Amino acid sequence: MPKTVHIIGAGISGLSAAVRLANAGHGVHVHEATLQAGGRCRSYFDAATNLTIDNGNHLLLSGNRHALAYAKSIGSEAGLIGPKSAQFPFVDLATGQRWLLDLGDSRLPLWVFDESRRVPDTGVLDYLALAPLVWAPASKPVGETIRCEGTLYQRLVQPLLLAALNVDPPVGSAGLAGAIVRETLLAGGQACRPLIARDGLSAVLIEPAVKLLQQKGASVSLSHELRELATTGDRVAGLKFGSDEIAIGPDDAIVMAVPPRAAATLLPGLQTPTRFRAIVNAHFRITPPRDAPAILGVVGGLVEWLFAFPQRLSVTISAGDRLVDMPREELAGAIWRDVCKASGVSGELPPWQVVRERRATFEATPEQNALRPKAVTSFKNLFLAGDWTDTGLPATIEGSVRSGDRAADLVLAMR
Ligand SMILES: Cc1cc2nc3c(=O)[nH]c(=O)nc-3n(C[C@H](O)[C@H](O)[C@H](O)COP(=O)(O)OP(=O)(O)OC[C@H]3O[C@@H](n4cnc5c(N)ncnc54)[C@H](O)[C@@H]3O)c2cc1C
Repeated sequence: MPKTVHIIGAGISGLSAAVRLANAGHGVHVHEATLQAGGRCRSYFDAATNLTIDNGNHLLLSGNRHALAYAKSIGSEAGLIGPKSAQFPFVDLATGQRWLLDLGDSRLPLWVFDESRRVPDTGVLDYLALAPLVWAPASKPVGETIRCEGTLYQRLVQPLLLAALNVDPPVGSAGLAGAIVRETLLAGGQACRPLIARDGLSAVLIEPAVKLLQQKGASVSLSHELRELATTGDRVAGLKFGSDEIAIGPDDAIVMAVPPRAAATLLPGLQTPTRFRAIVNAHFRITPPRDAPAILGVVGGLVEWLFAFPQRLSVTISAGDRLVDMPREELAGAIWRDVCKASGVSGELPPWQVVRERRATFEATPEQNALRPKAVTSFKNLFLAGDWTDTGLPATIEGSVRSGDRAADLVLAMR
């Protein structure tokens, strides 16, 4: 059993590995390069809106069982808030049509057989035509597996897969899309209830983990960037942080949970995804209308998902690379116009913030998916974690937690 486990990177992957190992009684030391834990899943105070906001709106589903188990293990499961059943209101900004997709709370996708609960103007056969996606190989694109057109595609499949894959669905990996369909739509409404960290990502998914680790005697060092690995034969023998160096004992282990570029620099020769996609989020300081749903699916416009928080309306736009160079004011204005149409609010642009995460996720195409490494490395005491490692899922919190759990289990299995 290793004496001390060094976790490099305090994103969700690193923290989930750290919590699992600390709970198993190991000494844990987390090293994070920046001044804040959370990585791509964090909150911060934003002066423009005078609110604490998240770097991006993050949606979990009740079927994300590893993510929920992680939240439970850090005592914050109750902070993931959602409706009692899997209901998704939608609006089409082009036609003004509104509908409610009601997946219910069954373990089977029975809603498909009920006209009043499925997407308007769709029939059972449209849903059956998605079957090839369910067990599609990762090497095939979605566009060669199902027909990417028609009402069901425009109103459900495209928004779901765009949000999950963060690429235009036809070019996305059918294998990754299939995993999403199996774990959500096919698993019935009980797996599709939307959950949001209403009090903020850091308050619900990050700070409780750091607190728990500290209570267990683990240390979390911020502003402590790993610069180099010292290796001897098939083992890592030291960690170099610039100002200081840590010797790795024969019983110690390392979980490297950093993004792909950092991992490839630290471990020359490591194959990783090389292409990334942006996600754009816009936050508007406004009290949402009383009847505003917590999440509204939006089609036929720029906005894709509209989230209502106590003091703000927030928007997510996936595969947002086309928007990263657009002037900020112009982008905020265009998004605000969609928000007004979708939510029924009106008036001048309220205080706003636009956050463009350029490398939000790796590009979930078959080619990039094939570059994802396993958790095991050529060094016996070094394991990889991260949403970009070979989790079988696109870059999501669920995939991150699975990768952290997997790396921790490999450490636990070390002799
Ligand atoms: C805008 C946006 C919206 C998203 N929406 C959703 C969503 O709705 N649902 C969902 O499930 N997922 C969503 N995701 C994806 C989700 O945020 C990620 O999958 C997850 O946060 C990745 O966690 P990670 O720990 O693997 O990586 P990261 O969060 O990138 O963590 C890696 C950490 O390593 C640190 N690090 C890097 N180099 C070093 C070094 N040399 N030494 C020490 N530390 C280092 C970094 O600073 C960072 O803290 C979204 C992502 C973004 C950006």
